[in-house]
Amino acid sequence: MHKILIIEDEENLNKILQDYLRHNGFTPISALTGSEGLQLWQQEKPDLILLDLNLPDMDGLDLLRELRRKEQVPVIMITARIEEVDRLIGLELGADDYITKPFSPREVVARVKAVLRRLSRPASQPETLKLGNLQIDLRGHTASVGSKSLDLTPAEFQLLAQLIAEPDRAFSRLELLEYTQGGRFEGYERTIDIHIKNIRQKIRAIDPGANFILTVFGVGYKAGLVK
Ligand code: CA
Repeated sequence: MHKILIIEDEENLNKILQDYLRHNGFTPISALTGSEGLQLWQQEKPDLILLDLNLPDMDGLDLLRELRRKEQVPVIMITARIEEVDRLIGLELGADDYITKPFSPREVVARVKAVLRRLSRPASQPETLKLGNLQIDLRGHTASVGSKSLDLTPAEFQLLAQLIAEPDRAFSRLELLEYTQGGRFEGYERTIDIHIKNIRQKIRAIDPGANFILTVFGVGYKAGLVK
């Protein structure tokens, strides 16, 4: 069963999340402070972390940076204000999803499932995808351009893999959001633009002339080769 680490200082909310996750077949682990959260993360190696932005002893963003320095564990950030989401996305720290308070525990469970689902590879998929000198290893969750590895966040990886898997198809931002978030939730379509921009920058940092994602005017994005 998937272990979910909840780092949230509001005890009531933390408890409700634990109950909901447990009822949905997850194993919740609970921390009320950032330092406790970091300790449990190292001890328990959770499959996903629900991380409150405002913690009593530590800024949730500092905690996220600390996690990201060490591994690509999926993280869903919990924030108190919708305006903070814009700021968080702009910081490009690579959280996999964002939830704003107040939220329903049911929504949180659905988001947790969506993030875990998109990070797990169905058995019927091919193991590698290729476009030009871009190669995506779906089994190892790695991507490379030429001989150099492309360092993507889990959400960026999923987005790029989705586009490359169907190279002739133009996806709308909303469709891409559904693929990367599991669908049917209120999302932020410009999240997709920011992810795409980041992916393009990372690819160009390796191969300045390369771009594997084309903008389709009035629609969204599709995979393709441009120079
Ligand atoms: Ca808090």
